[in-house]
Amino acid sequence: MKDSFGREIDYLRISVTDRCNLRCVYCMPEEGVEPISHADVLSYEETVRLVRIFAELGIKDVRLTGGEPLVRRGIESLVSEIKAMPGIETVSITTNGILLPEKLPALIEGGLDAVNISLDTLDAGKFDRITRRTGLPVVLEAIDLCLDAGLNTKINVVAMKGINDDEFVSLAELAKDRNLAVRFIEYMPIGRNDFEKYVPGQEIRGQLETVFGTMKTDTTLRGHGPAMYLRPEGFAGSIGFISAMTCAFCDKCNRVRLTADGFLKLCLQYDIGTSLRDVIRDGALDNEIKDVIMKAVEKKPKEHTFNDYLDAKNIEEKSMNKIGG
Ligand code: SAM
Ligand code: SF4
Repeated sequence: MKDSFGREIDYLRISVTDRCNLRCVYCMPEEGVEPISHADVLSYEETVRLVRIFAELGIKDVRLTGGEPLVRRGIESLVSEIKAMPGIETVSITTNGILLPEKLPALIEGGLDAVNISLDTLDAGKFDRITRRTGLPVVLEAIDLCLDAGLNTKINVVAMKGINDDEFVSLAELAKDRNLAVRFIEYMPIGRNDFEKYVPGQEIRGQLETVFGTMKTDTTLRGHGPAMYLRPEGFAGSIGFISAMTCAFCDKCNRVRLTADGFLKLCLQYDIGTSLRDVIRDGALDNEIKDVIMKAVEKKPKEHTFNDYLDAKNIEEKSMNKIGG
């Protein structure tokens, strides 16, 4: 399936819930958010039907995210149903890792291909302050379990000035002896206005190169997304940069998103899209749903304008847990 700019759309990110067992400062307010009612969330049956239709339209890779995808009951069977679907090549999960130790065996059994684990600090006290909950040892255990299981594993670090900018080197060193990628994500003005925390990817790279020396592009690692990977000399793993704010990777954008309540979201920044849940619940046939998806994809915006963040008029106001980051 191609959009109106000729971009091949083959990657679907599904937010299976907007609920979460953490309250990360950059994602959710302390008191949490009014959750979408269970009746409004897509059932697994509806999700599986939509993924089958998306697969017929050319989607090959599916990522389950949230909120925290592992808090949704039965996520293991959703993984295996999607993985078994004709046309689907990979199924991956983005998780905070808290429930991973208990769910990992069944997820692997179901065919999970890759996991991205969010981890912004190696300091237990800071972990508790960032997430407003506890759990650093469990997340570290989850990382080891994924590696032991031979799973393609990436660590997502949201870079925040004054919060974890003193730990970029030690976080990057997780990739020194481990075959994983540590990816630094530029802090995004999604649902909030604290731009002073934002650290440009180039600044992080500069900091790392003063310690590790010049890093070469790692061409062995290619995800489905916009990350650029580098490998310091002597590292088993690599360092990635997701420079959403500074880097115009929109011309290669291959993704659309499905929110927990079934909204087909065409770009992280804008609220443009359509409710597939309403279409399904109105009794549409598969071909009719396909038409709705193709018409919506034609409206996928050319690019985001996060880098014009001082001009905030177009900025998505929902927080990341609602969108499915
Ligand atoms: N709960 C899961 C997790 O934390 O990995 C999946 C959902 S979370 C919204 C997906 C990713 O978005 C995480 O890696 C998180 O760090 C990132 N994220 C959330 N808010 C962000 C923000 N304002 N800027 C940049 N990344 C953000
Ligand atoms: Fe939850 Fe992930 Fe948002 Fe943190 S980033 S509050 S773990 S959804």
